[in-house]
Amino acid sequence: MSEDHQEKRVIPNSRMARLEGFGRNLGADGYVFRPYHISDIKDAFQMAREAGMQITLRGAGRSYGDANIGSECIILDLCRMNQIYSFNRKTGEIDCGAGVTIEQLWRTGMEDGWWPPVVSGTMAPTLGGALAMNIHGKNAFAAGTLGEHVIEMDVFCPNGDIRTLTPASPLFSAVISSAGLLGVITRVKLQMKRISSGDLRVLPISCKNWEEQFAAFEENRESADYMVAWIDTFGRGEQAGRGLFHAGFYTQEPPHSPTLHPDHQDLPDTILGFFPKSVVWRFLKKFNNRFCMRMLNWAKHVSGRLLGNGRPHLQSMVGFSFLLDYVPNWRRAYEPYGFIQYQSFVPEEFAREVFRQMVEMQQVRKLESFLAVMKRHRSDGFLFSHGVDGYSLALDFKLTKKNRAAIWQLAHDMNGLVVKAGGRFYLAKDSTLRSEDFVLSVGKEAVAQFFRAKRELDPDNLLTSNLAKRIGLDAPGG
Ligand SMILES: Cc1cc2nc3c(=O)[nH]c(=O)nc-3n(C[C@H](O)[C@H](O)[C@H](O)COP(=O)(O)OP(=O)(O)OC[C@H]3O[C@@H](n4cnc5c(N)ncnc54)[C@H](O)[C@@H]3O)c2cc1C
Repeated sequence: MSEDHQEKRVIPNSRMARLEGFGRNLGADGYVFRPYHISDIKDAFQMAREAGMQITLRGAGRSYGDANIGSECIILDLCRMNQIYSFNRKTGEIDCGAGVTIEQLWRTGMEDGWWPPVVSGTMAPTLGGALAMNIHGKNAFAAGTLGEHVIEMDVFCPNGDIRTLTPASPLFSAVISSAGLLGVITRVKLQMKRISSGDLRVLPISCKNWEEQFAAFEENRESADYMVAWIDTFGRGEQAGRGLFHAGFYTQEPPHSPTLHPDHQDLPDTILGFFPKSVVWRFLKKFNNRFCMRMLNWAKHVSGRLLGNGRPHLQSMVGFSFLLDYVPNWRRAYEPYGFIQYQSFVPEEFAREVFRQMVEMQQVRKLESFLAVMKRHRSDGFLFSHGVDGYSLALDFKLTKKNRAAIWQLAHDMNGLVVKAGGRFYLAKDSTLRSEDFVLSVGKEAVAQFFRAKRELDPDNLLTSNLAKRIGLDAPGG
């Protein structure tokens, strides 16, 4: 029988599941497989060929939009590849499966004085997902992105190769940051960061406007280890950009400090000793509207001015890094339509003006972001890097029955400002980017380089996602 007449393999419907990104703003049906071993991944690619289907990779599902979903695709959920193969307590090198999470990393290393070099605002992401997006943390200005701390990694390529890539390998900087479209990261060897205490000294600075926010970042840049600012997007005129800046500093303690023990790190599951955090999302949901959020942002700004302003305090590394993880199900406060997070990265010289204009645009349209967070970054050499020598602003927008089209339009208009300023977007957070803005931001040469790597590693274009289709990275042959 000729190949043309061979029957296509059928994937059982029992594998079908509805999957969403973290923001629950986009969803898709896919056929889910959860490999445990490289041989399972190999089988899945064989199955995809026989079924004439494409594959989408998924880690912990913490990307907000459609990077981890693929309509009618085989979904390879890599969370079960979570074995830690070795951990050297002297050097801090950890060798593990790509399904290992940031939480596993800190719980493994902390008692011996090792902390993951870069962490996101949640400890749930897997190493594979985190490297596919090349995540950054509140130390991005000093430590760069996670990819900069990888010693080596194994990548299963759809062409059948298994490659060990190091920072010296030409494909290293393409696989990291390419949103899981060039190969499956299966093993990662990472350099952890030495710490002697599980506490950070945290300095809060209340800022009256954009000028004070930017000044706080620049003044603390040389000495701080972490920096982040919350912005009240309801502030207008002289008070536009008001909010609360935090700088975090490592502290020194004698060996075997009790602060390094996980018990010191884990946060209580109640507020004030009696109020269960598990119900907090229900309250948030009740108040999750424009009027209440305006009040809440104002109250936070005022309390920031009155309480602790300029006075450092100690906070656990986990409390400082992953506070939201201790409010279970907080995203349910955005039900039933979900939310988007819009994060853009703008070079230092234009950031003040671009962020000012973005927030003004939101105010004019009465579509203010309910939560806005600003960070300082540095540039790096990864292919689709979001890192620029400048600032990022992450904006959460609640979706309602009526505002979806207006929010998408707002995002497109803000994209125009970012592109004009030579800025970047972050695929891990994105739900709205159009291919033309994506190409303008990363440049045509980066896209051409991506397709050269694609032709080498995935010549049959087996790896895809709904994000790839939306931003033009799914075109066979480029
Ligand atoms: C509350 C919250 C806070 C966050 N804070 C930050 C932050 O501070 N900084 C930051 O940078 N990000 C942040 N993020 C985003 C998050 O770190 C990234 O989206 C990360 O990629 C999620 O990893 P994941 O394992 O959930 O991967 P998924 O979201 O499931 O997948 C992400 C991408 O990785 C690909 N992929 C998954 N596994 C593999 C693999 N083994 N090999 C190759 N490709 C793979 C997928 O195809 C997809 O394109 C935050 C997210 C949330 C929900």
